Amino acid sequence: MKITVDDEKCCGAGQCVLIAPEVFDQRDDDGIVVLLDAEPPAGQYDAVRESASVCPAAAIHLDEDA
Ligand code: SF4
Repeated sequence: MKITVDDEKCCGAGQCVLIAPEVFDQRDDDGIVVLLDAEPPAGQYDAVRESASVCPAAAIHLDEDA
């Protein structure tokens, strides 16, 4: 799995950070997403998929085949 985030779309809602804190963080100044691990271990996949599905800005993109 390979993750990309669109920080232009991200509205800083932070759901991804709550669900998958080992993969996503937020910038201190404006709350915009920071991708900590673009190719996480398989144990993180479910949390990453949930993060992508609940992101209100649809800013998290997953390439499941990468
Ligand atoms: S859930 Fe989406 S909008 Fe919220 S911080 Fe994460 S990437 Fe940004």
